[in-house]
Amino acid sequence: MGLLALGTPLDWPETKPLAEHIRNHGITQFLNTWKRWKDRSGEGLLWGDEIEMFVTSLDDSVPAAYLSLRQSEILEKLKNVTEDPELAKFKPAGCRSIPTFHPEYGRYMIESTPGCPYTGSLKDLLTVEIDMRFRRKIVRSHLLPNELPITLTSWPRLGVENAVFTDPPTKPDPEHSASKSQYVGQLITNPHARFPTLTANIRQRRGSLVDIRVPLYVDKNTVLPDGVKAPLSGGVPPPAKPEPGTPYIHMDAMGFGMGCSCLQITFQAFNVQEARTVYDALVPVAPIMLALTAGAPAFRGRLADVDARWNVIAASVDDRTEEERGLQPLKDAPFTIPKSRYDSVSLYIANDARNKPEYSDVYAPINEKVRERLVANGLDNKIATHFAHLFIRDPLVQFSETIDQDDEKSMDHFENIQSTNWQTVRFKPPPVDSPIGWRVEFRSMEIQPTDFENAALSIFIVLLSRAIISFDLNFYQPLSQVDDNMQRAQQRNAARANKFWFRRQVFPEDASSYDLESRPVSPPYTPTPPEGEEPLSPTSVLHGVSRGLAAANGHANGNGNTNGTANGNRSKSPLNTLRRSGSVSSCTSLLEEEEASEGPEFAQMTLDEVINGRGDFPGLLGVVNAYINSINADVQTKCEIRRYLDLIKLRAKGELVTPATYIRNFITTHPDYKHDSIVSDQIQYDLVKAIDEVERGVRAAPELLGKDYVGSGTGTLNGAHNHAA
Ligand code: ADP
Ligand code: MG
Ligand code: MG
Ligand code: MG
Ligand code: MG
Ligand code: MG
Repeated sequence: MGLLALGTPLDWPETKPLAEHIRNHGITQFLNTWKRWKDRSGEGLLWGDEIEMFVTSLDDSVPAAYLSLRQSEILEKLKNVTEDPELAKFKPAGCRSIPTFHPEYGRYMIESTPGCPYTGSLKDLLTVEIDMRFRRKIVRSHLLPNELPITLTSWPRLGVENAVFTDPPTKPDPEHSASKSQYVGQLITNPHARFPTLTANIRQRRGSLVDIRVPLYVDKNTVLPDGVKAPLSGGVPPPAKPEPGTPYIHMDAMGFGMGCSCLQITFQAFNVQEARTVYDALVPVAPIMLALTAGAPAFRGRLADVDARWNVIAASVDDRTEEERGLQPLKDAPFTIPKSRYDSVSLYIANDARNKPEYSDVYAPINEKVRERLVANGLDNKIATHFAHLFIRDPLVQFSETIDQDDEKSMDHFENIQSTNWQTVRFKPPPVDSPIGWRVEFRSMEIQPTDFENAALSIFIVLLSRAIISFDLNFYQPLSQVDDNMQRAQQRNAARANKFWFRRQVFPEDASSYDLESRPVSPPYTPTPPEGEEPLSPTSVLHGVSRGLAAANGHANGNGNTNGTANGNRSKSPLNTLRRSGSVSSCTSLLEEEEASEGPEFAQMTLDEVINGRGDFPGLLGVVNAYINSINADVQTKCEIRRYLDLIKLRAKGELVTPATYIRNFITTHPDYKHDSIVSDQIQYDLVKAIDEVERGVRAAPELLGKDYVGSGTGTLNGAHNHAA
């Protein structure tokens, strides 16, 4: 999260008339940066991660785990840790700086980043986990005795009706809250003006509450409303979006998506060309990593029939009007917009002959005035079109004090649009008055229960970016395939069961033809018309499901089972259960149909094949290994890196499970689970405790982490530095 300027936020009717002003000055600000930075080269690799976590408060007497709403108090204490001479004493060996902590959307969330970015040296990569663990330790040391820092992607019971899920308890207030949600109240949102304003203005621009639907995992005792029939969800995973007439979990507030936690990686490029090349190469990698990191199998107290957060967060900030969504004939809106502001990338941007226009094959409306202005100022069409696409959006939060800005000194109007285009990969121009150069942010990954996993994934992505540059790799594939992969990535058990489109031949065929100087500029981009995608129409299913599950949920909560984790009952490992159940080989029939249409350029591969390779295709890990072998580093360092890369390898192979599978298995094998899709307070409490114990290494989870995992131990700083009191 960048700068959070304070001021008086404008509501939507006040912001809307300023949209053109903000976009115009935003482009002026960008052009000023472009002029300063377009020809600069030589920035070295610097990179950093962002880890989002939940603060949970345990009440053993219920028992229940709540979201603790003490973000402001905790951040107030953490604000000064950078200067705290006491804390420096606790800085672990190898950790170069005191980390920094930032607010996030949920009032129960803390984001952390390294105090200063890492370099690309292998030795520095070995400090990533140390740094992440130090951050967790610092947070832990500033919590109350009954609170825990937890890195889960979705909070299973956020928004359960007629239930307590926050500490202190909060109630929905459909009349007065910014979201008008029937499930969550104002107090789940960070109180800083930016967040409630964002929430309200998205809802007002859209003209209705946001409408989030994920398929419900239907079990043998699941209560469904009359007329709604769903097959048992045992076998083939259904599509990641609910089909008409099938049951789904309904959510209606920004917090359900933006209140999820994720793992993001930002790295600085040598120059703008390199940033554009790496951006493009990472676009097809985004769904692959979403599948590999999937960690969100439950929402609003129910098991979902998806494993990941993406569609939830996309829908949670979908500010498109009915016209833009294609539900009404166009009157005020210039075009329909196929995607939410939070979605996958719709245009490749590199000035590279390999970036063929036909790969950008999804409809991406553009702001033609912006494109023309950028081209008139010397930008090539590819990059101009990228920003012209981002600038179809309206600004969402504007403070009255900063309407007029010095366009030489500010990028705020530019960032207003740029930073509310939440795509899988973000191309970040240099900030003003800063040595920071062109950067690329990789944004699709879900947060993992342990920092071992978070570090492993961060290291993998950074090394992959090095391999992309070093070997001049070509990952281009049609964006329609990438979008298809995004949906496949979220399906239940996708990491093990699904196939993903990927490019077969990734190495340059003729290295000489890829000389940067000789790459021709591609012809102008012409948008293709939208493909009449029918959005779901609201059905009565929704409220029926809500009521049915509410009743079942009340029942589950009232059964008086306070019997701890009862893990002794679970003799078979979740991994074995999964293997025996035969769900491993399932793919959708759609997938099989499409198999026939594979051409010589692209193939559908399992996650194992995409990561670990098959035949001539080296796999993403294969190119990372080749990169490591190509650089000068001592054997010991390479061995230690191997420990992290093995997690990627084994998870892709299916020998280790994703967090989503771990959590799903934990829930469905819990003695309090009634095979009714409901995640009770008891189950969530035990899950949260288990996740914390797994992280600290006091509870084994070999199916998730392998047998050699060493936890973070007791996890607090020396008692002398416990600021909780
Ligand atoms: P945002 O929320 O806008 O994505 P953050 O400030 O939370 O951004 O995180 C930015 C990340 O980029 C941090 O991990 C930080 O360490 C890293 N970073 C900082 N400086 C650089 C740099 N010069 N190049 C690349 N990454 C950087
Ligand atoms: Mg951030
Ligand atoms: Mg964040
Ligand atoms: Mg952020
Ligand atoms: Mg940000
Ligand atoms: Mg970020």
